[in-house]
Amino acid sequence: MIDTQVLIVGAGPVGLTLAADLGLRGVRCTLVEQKEAPQFLPKMERCNARTMEIFRRMGLAGSIRAAGLPAHCPMDVFIVTSIVEPPLVHLPYPSVAEAEKAIAASTDASMPLEPYQLISQYTLEPLLKSVVEKLPGVTVRYGTEFLDFTENPNGVTARLRNGGSTTEICALYLAGCDGGASPIRKQLGIDLKGEGNLLELRQALYRCDELYERIPIGKGRHYHIADARHTFLILQDSTRHFTLHAVVEQDCDMVAHFAKTIVMPLPFEMINCGAWRQNLLVADRYGSGSRVFLAGDAVHLMIPTGGLGMNTGCGDAIDLSWKLAATLARWGGPNLLKSYEIERRQVGERAVAASRFASAGRRKWRSMWRPDIRDDTPEGAQTRANLARIADVEQRKSNEMVGAELGYRYVGSPLIAAEATRGTNEAPDEGPQHNFIDYVPSTYPGVRLPHVWLEDETAVQDRIGYGHGYTLLRFAGNRDVAALGGAFATYGAPYAVLDLPDQRARDIYGHDLVLVRPDMHVVWRGNALPDDPARLAALATGH
Ligand SMILES: Cc1cc2nc3c(=O)[nH]c(=O)nc-3n(C[C@H](O)[C@H](O)[C@H](O)COP(=O)(O)OP(=O)(O)OC[C@H]3O[C@@H](n4cnc5c(N)ncnc54)[C@H](O)[C@@H]3O)c2cc1C
Repeated sequence: MIDTQVLIVGAGPVGLTLAADLGLRGVRCTLVEQKEAPQFLPKMERCNARTMEIFRRMGLAGSIRAAGLPAHCPMDVFIVTSIVEPPLVHLPYPSVAEAEKAIAASTDASMPLEPYQLISQYTLEPLLKSVVEKLPGVTVRYGTEFLDFTENPNGVTARLRNGGSTTEICALYLAGCDGGASPIRKQLGIDLKGEGNLLELRQALYRCDELYERIPIGKGRHYHIADARHTFLILQDSTRHFTLHAVVEQDCDMVAHFAKTIVMPLPFEMINCGAWRQNLLVADRYGSGSRVFLAGDAVHLMIPTGGLGMNTGCGDAIDLSWKLAATLARWGGPNLLKSYEIERRQVGERAVAASRFASAGRRKWRSMWRPDIRDDTPEGAQTRANLARIADVEQRKSNEMVGAELGYRYVGSPLIAAEATRGTNEAPDEGPQHNFIDYVPSTYPGVRLPHVWLEDETAVQDRIGYGHGYTLLRFAGNRDVAALGGAFATYGAPYAVLDLPDQRARDIYGHDLVLVRPDMHVVWRGNALPDDPARLAALATGH
């Protein structure tokens, strides 16, 4: 007997996002987490713009912003010899309020619908937990450890341990969102490939109430100290908490190191401290190929430079979610779940490459450090100038990866009507270049639908209702599209035509018709339906 449609293991941000989206799509799922409750441990602190667009569609962007860093706080990045001396490099980045104004005034689709949001993982997880606990179809079980599973053609049986007792649960599908040490990935015998254990740092979380208001060089989110210890001070969402990363011998050294970093004699408390390692790894496979799927850190581990780890995992969750929901609703064909690994593994690989690119940039400017950097001598001045010159170029790689965040597209997916030569391992892909830094809006099949304001000041993305299924954007009302509706109806797939008589949007999107799937990625575009609309509907729905 089936106890739940989808068993999700791991209530990190990825498992919670998957549970929320499945629950909102009406799928019955059970989320198990070995911890008794979310922990007050620092990790990620920035949801990127794409993740915030995803949360907007789920109706969560407002509550995430309310819980996160206040909208007026700058997101500037500083590279300094000390936080009380003039910075070597100051990279200003807009506060959320400023970014929202810029988005409101944007006219060319180059900006996302939502800006980024700084929110600490220890704030985001309880927030998402409270959301999923309210969803009728979602059962949430903290303090429950997943032990192992058996898979058969009809489903998965997992053994769970709660306190002293072990129980079994039967599900149609198993989603391993169980983090970097993923027991599910290990049981499947899937290797991680790439570079592991590149550098070990210590990270500690502090409460220091006065620091934010007192930093004389200006308010920001990141303060990199140009020293031999890779010291890096990060503002957390409350503005009263900070994390510090540094290469030091022992946990207890992080107390003195924080005091040294903040220079000013301010009261503070170190809340916790631990070691973490830098990795650049991607799993060979994203699941068993039939009933077990892996998402998030379970399949990709990257250096936080660029902040792509959780954000890539949330993208995995959203891709997997609608495909599971469609398969369970019986309108999704076999290619739908098959495409999960094809679509998301390439994004994982690109995100790891982007993280490598950004962290190489950071290593490059850090390599310019010399022991005389603080000396009041011509040699000291030269060291500072050299480091600043390189950092002004290289540090931007970490903070300006909009192309990696918004511009990714799915190449060689069986669900995407690729144009020109089909992008597969065998044939070259002729779509737009993947670019980590620049985001070039496009409706090339496989991309995220760019954000465009309509004349009535609504956003195209908002006009596509959550849970709508497929949407055909029609910018020329006289195009006959009835045959496509009929083709989707044969599968019972939800489909709607959205008429948008808006010339500017038409010009930006470049085509009269754009077919968008439930996760806002473009399936196909054209000026008239293809000769065989049934084939397009079959492809889009995975048949
Ligand atoms: C210092 C630092 C800064 C970072 N900054 C950013 C950032 O700004 N932006 C960003 O996008 N990413 C960032 N990251 C990366 C981000 O934290 C991770 O990518 C993210 O936590 C991955 O989420 P996840 O849900 O996949 O895995 P996790 O957060 O690791 O969650 C996995 C969950 O599974 C549970 N679990 C494991 N095994 C079992 C089991 N057997 N039974 C039950 N439960 C189990 C674990 O307890 C855990 O709660 C940062 C990481 C670090 C270390």
